[in-house]
Amino acid sequence: MACLASGDTWVHLRLCRSCGHVGCCDDSKNRHARKHAAAAGHPLISSFEPGEDWSWCFVDEIEVQLNG
Ligand SMILES: [Zn+2]
Ligand SMILES: [Zn+2]
Repeated sequence: MACLASGDTWVHLRLCRSCGHVGCCDDSKNRHARKHAAAAGHPLISSFEPGEDWSWCFVDEIEVQLNG
């Protein structure tokens, strides 16, 4: 986790659905999930927060439904 490695804090975590990378959300100062999506070409993420099961596409900027 990039924030953990740099000692920074984050607000929420997001899980990349393409490779499993965990990054921080847009409310976090480093926005690692969005940066990873752009850098790796992996636009689909899901919330990594307990009790949250929504997914998001950074390209279309819409919530998406993913099975599993
Ligand atoms: Zn981060
Ligand atoms: Zn990825």
